[in-house]
Amino acid sequence: MLTIKENVPLAELSTFEIGGKARYFVSVKTEEDIKEALGWAREHGHRFIVMAGGSNVVVPDEGLDALIIKISGVNFSIIDSTIEIDAGCVLLHVIKAAADEGLGGWEKLAGIPGTVGGAVRGNAGAFGNEIKDVITWVRAINTKTGEGHEFANPECEFAYRMSYFKKNPEWIITRVHISLQKTDAIESQRLITETIKERERRHIQDVRAAGSYFINPVAPTDIREMYEKEKKAQSREGRVPAGWLIEKAGLKGRRVGGAEASMQHPNYIVNTGNATASDVRRLAELIKRIVKEKFGVELQEEAVVWK
Ligand SMILES: Cc1cc2nc3c(=O)[nH]c(=O)nc-3n(C[C@H](O)[C@H](O)[C@H](O)COP(=O)(O)OP(=O)(O)OC[C@H]3O[C@@H](n4cnc5c(N)ncnc54)[C@H](O)[C@@H]3O)c2cc1C
Repeated sequence: MLTIKENVPLAELSTFEIGGKARYFVSVKTEEDIKEALGWAREHGHRFIVMAGGSNVVVPDEGLDALIIKISGVNFSIIDSTIEIDAGCVLLHVIKAAADEGLGGWEKLAGIPGTVGGAVRGNAGAFGNEIKDVITWVRAINTKTGEGHEFANPECEFAYRMSYFKKNPEWIITRVHISLQKTDAIESQRLITETIKERERRHIQDVRAAGSYFINPVAPTDIREMYEKEKKAQSREGRVPAGWLIEKAGLKGRRVGGAEASMQHPNYIVNTGNATASDVRRLAELIKRIVKEKFGVELQEEAVVWK
């Protein structure tokens, strides 16, 4: 039997640490729990919103008149070189546990905050690696029909920060099956430590933010050429870093209220201490407008801005 709580503060459950309360809130671990929570929302006529690690969301200041279904999980099982994982498991915990068992190949994802399910939905990635690279199948349930389905990797339609589940939010990911390579445990642990250090070097990670706020956009040829010449780097899939465009537009360090386009990595919008969700949204709109005016490029949020 699930416990539905009322008026639960969400700021402390999101890495941005901003926003109001959830009218209703429930923590779930299993697929059965999720179905029960959905049944409760339906029965009481409330909308529901799925939250997991809270590392890619902006909670509105006025809170959410909805049932927040918080996906938390702890169970995963390792068999040979494969792992079946509850969607709510923390990604870093599983990467470390796999390393201890001498399984690796995904260490470059270490340090991406949040859960395995959240990572699958956004095809999270770092240093040229993406979670799609290790996925065998993903189990999800359809919140409209109640049907469950196991999606083989190609059915997940993974692309840059994209998946079938992101395009079709009526599906909730419940279990994730991955396939890793046998590796030396010490070497795998070393790679994890090195990756986390490198992330810290590029941008302090213990920060009130949602990571990169905008998706790296596909840019017109002249902008791509400008980037490649300046950075002596090849643009990937026609994309240029959103942070580079923001900096070029003179917006590094720009503030609205307590929200700031980080000096260290301008694509991180940071809560400097007293930011509201409204500050974050207004700064994001300002950045989008000026980048569009200067470069003709439409920035699109990677962070999920709840209303
Ligand atoms: C400091 C910092 C650094 C970051 N660095 C990176 C990085 O290097 N690479 C990167 O890709 N991302 C990065 N991020 C962004 C974030 O960590 C990822 O997007 C992460 O995968 C989100 O997972 P989550 O569990 O926190 O999801 P949440 O933030 O809780 O949710 C995000 C979205 O996913 C949906 N969702 C969550 N779980 C499920 C589920 N089981 N089924 C269906 N939908 C679900 C939610 O409804 C919401 O729409 C960073 C964030 C921070 C704060």
